[in-house]
Amino acid sequence: MTDRNQQLFERARKRIPGGVNSPVRAFRSVGGTPPFIAGGKGSRIVDAGGKSYLDYVGSWGPLILGHAHPEVVAAAREAAARGLSFGAPTEIEVDMAELLCRLLPSLDMVRLVSSGTEATMSAIRLARGHTGRDLLVKFEGCYHGHSDSLLVKAGSGLLTFGNPSSGGVPADVARHTLALDYNDAEGVERAFAQHGERIAAVIVEPVAGNMNLVAPRPEFLRGLREQCTRHGSVLIFDEVMTGFRVGPSCAQGLYGIRPDLTTLGKVIGGGMPVAAFGGRREIMEKIAPLGPVYQAGTLSGNPLAVASGLATLRLVQAPGFFAELERKTRALCDDLSAAAAKHGVAFSAQCVGGMFGVYFRAAPPRNFAEVMQCDKDAFNRFFHAMLAAGHYFAPSPFEAGFMSAAHSDADIAETVAAAEAVFGNWQA
Ligand SMILES: *Cc1c(COP(=O)(O)O)cnc(C)c1O
Repeated sequence: MTDRNQQLFERARKRIPGGVNSPVRAFRSVGGTPPFIAGGKGSRIVDAGGKSYLDYVGSWGPLILGHAHPEVVAAAREAAARGLSFGAPTEIEVDMAELLCRLLPSLDMVRLVSSGTEATMSAIRLARGHTGRDLLVKFEGCYHGHSDSLLVKAGSGLLTFGNPSSGGVPADVARHTLALDYNDAEGVERAFAQHGERIAAVIVEPVAGNMNLVAPRPEFLRGLREQCTRHGSVLIFDEVMTGFRVGPSCAQGLYGIRPDLTTLGKVIGGGMPVAAFGGRREIMEKIAPLGPVYQAGTLSGNPLAVASGLATLRLVQAPGFFAELERKTRALCDDLSAAAAKHGVAFSAQCVGGMFGVYFRAAPPRNFAEVMQCDKDAFNRFFHAMLAAGHYFAPSPFEAGFMSAAHSDADIAETVAAAEAVFGNWQA
């Protein structure tokens, strides 16, 4: 590719580490040059060379209404005309907080921040401040943003404390985090039996979407709720990805579990930097200025961003919105699976609401170890063939895919036809 994308990537790499402002955008996992995006409308994006793609990334989840939805753009434009930021309270932040608390019964109070990373980092500080405990439980393969306590992988033994999964994270910080297997309710029970009175919080993606998509066993989520209640630990549902993506009351509504704290992001900003953490009043009142746990942000609750988020949240509440989104997502998964089966390709796909996973493995994985068994080379082949045909999937076998309301049945049929052609040449 010696086109405009290539030129831009070469320029970018001289001044931006890896040429990108967030690592997965660099295509390291699949190889090749990432298209630079010039614009998007509905289900499609166009790159700097003028090539158009059907987009199944949607800015990694936020764009549930598709690109440049007219009502969201209008809300942002109107807010911008009134002033970009005040660093003082505005009415629209109250509207947003009220709406979130109405849509999620587990929220009594909510605080707005600007990224999912900030939301989870603050929720963990709050849980530690509330319980007076230090230990944090997370699960292998779940991603909760890039704060120090969360860049931790399992230690060598089953119940040993974690090791940093990134340079620059002190081992001393990582040793307060226990990384367990996703979907392993017995492992959670054992950890609580051993360390229960020291565990401040369990943080989990209620549907894992950062190791490709891994669906929860309902008894796994129920077990987390039971153990946290029994041991006085705070259950944090990290719904930054699943929030208003898997259903109108997020994963907690879908599975009928009431967490103590919830983190939100992505969809609630509609493509702008808005995230949030919220939950039980008794816990939320421990945050500054009411309580001793400090948290702040110059641009938190930014009116332009909140206006875009509110416009998005209002539109996803339309009756039947999620049923239709899920119908399309399921159709894509079923039809891709059928096309692969027809040509004898080891492949599976599944969805929860408007997020999906495609796996080069006979059955969907249930934990991180099974995700690692997927055929990475097969994924890379599929990815590049689809990209060349104008279908933009996440450039990594460890990421989920996202459907938007703007995708039509004809779009999906076009993608399935392209995949069918790719699978047809698979043995060649
Ligand atoms: C994207 C994501 C985050 C991090 O959000 P940023 O806005 O990228 O900081 C945290 N948790 C989950 C589950 C996510 O998917």
